[in-house]
Amino acid sequence: MQAVGVIPGKREVRLMEHHAPQIAAPSQVKIRSLEVGVCGTDREICTFVYGSPPDGFDYLVLGHESLGEVIEVGSGVSQFKPGDLVVPSVRRPCPHAHCLACQEEKQDFCYTGDFTERGIKMTHGFLTEFYVDEDKYLTRVPPELRDVAVLVEPLTVAEKGLAQVRKIQQRLPWIDPRTPANNFGAGKNALVLGAGPVGILGAMVLIVSGFKTWVYSRSKAPNPKSELLESIGARYISCEIENVDRIAERVGNIDLIYEAVGVAKISYDVLRVLGLNGICVFTGIPAPKAAIGIDADIIMRNLVLKNQVVVGTVNADREAFEGAIRDLGIFLKRWPDALRSLITGRYKIDQYRDLLLGKATGIKNVIALA
Ligand SMILES: [Zn+2]
Ligand SMILES: [Zn+2]
Repeated sequence: MQAVGVIPGKREVRLMEHHAPQIAAPSQVKIRSLEVGVCGTDREICTFVYGSPPDGFDYLVLGHESLGEVIEVGSGVSQFKPGDLVVPSVRRPCPHAHCLACQEEKQDFCYTGDFTERGIKMTHGFLTEFYVDEDKYLTRVPPELRDVAVLVEPLTVAEKGLAQVRKIQQRLPWIDPRTPANNFGAGKNALVLGAGPVGILGAMVLIVSGFKTWVYSRSKAPNPKSELLESIGARYISCEIENVDRIAERVGNIDLIYEAVGVAKISYDVLRVLGLNGICVFTGIPAPKAAIGIDADIIMRNLVLKNQVVVGTVNADREAFEGAIRDLGIFLKRWPDALRSLITGRYKIDQYRDLLLGKATGIKNVIALA
């Protein structure tokens, strides 16, 4: 069957023939790939900075943002049946008995670094016609989410990030105890950095959680992203127009920064204006570059005097996938057009070159396999 993969040893990205997988254990499920989202991680793997083939292979099949349809289940699988739509998670546990995190199925907190990731690290991905996975790594998707469910995996970044914020902010009186659990951001200001898919989906989660939400991004408004964000009730600010100090004046106390830009310079500049009892969530992975200057004294002083927290988060656990599917349903009811417009292009598998190696365009581009 067809697959798109990288051959790091030859520095090649190509459409290749890959063996069709078969169910080999009672707990496994065979899935037909319907759609695979392309993101910056895939594009970086295609520059060979990371991305490693499984043992015994010279290639790695790409793709970690998948929507699939169950076509066959192992004898021990009871919660899925053929025809079900599913989204697989990405990270798989390390084999070590002493890794408390992986032993408890929290491989997003793996201690050893020997985890694998489908389509990224030592396990083939989903950019192929069929794949097999363990039932415990799949989350069911309701049929009404068929045309947007490929957004689940990038949305889990925000879901896990917000779950971390909820846990960490329990240490202080963050919200009135009478506030309903689904209105966690009531009266709070959130600043999102970046207006890519992770930033826009993050803004959506923040808005439905009650935050007054601002998005700080490069391009001048109006542009398609600023229009989309304003249509859902976010306030868009361009870095070209306003500097960080001006933003802090406009927003007031910045209670939460959700970083989805992957650039340290702007992220630390904004961290400097985080508010009292504020929390900053880093989700981006900057490429290694020369060291930069930051206002370290101001940042450290604020961390102490303003009880601030900076937390990094890598996705994601089962709750984040379930939360993403629940929230996609909420977004689809509230903003059907805006949500659908996040997917700016659907392409055939043989158009992989433009998507992976060409200039990045649009918001979220998807390869539709079926
Ligand atoms: Zn991705
Ligand atoms: Zn581990």
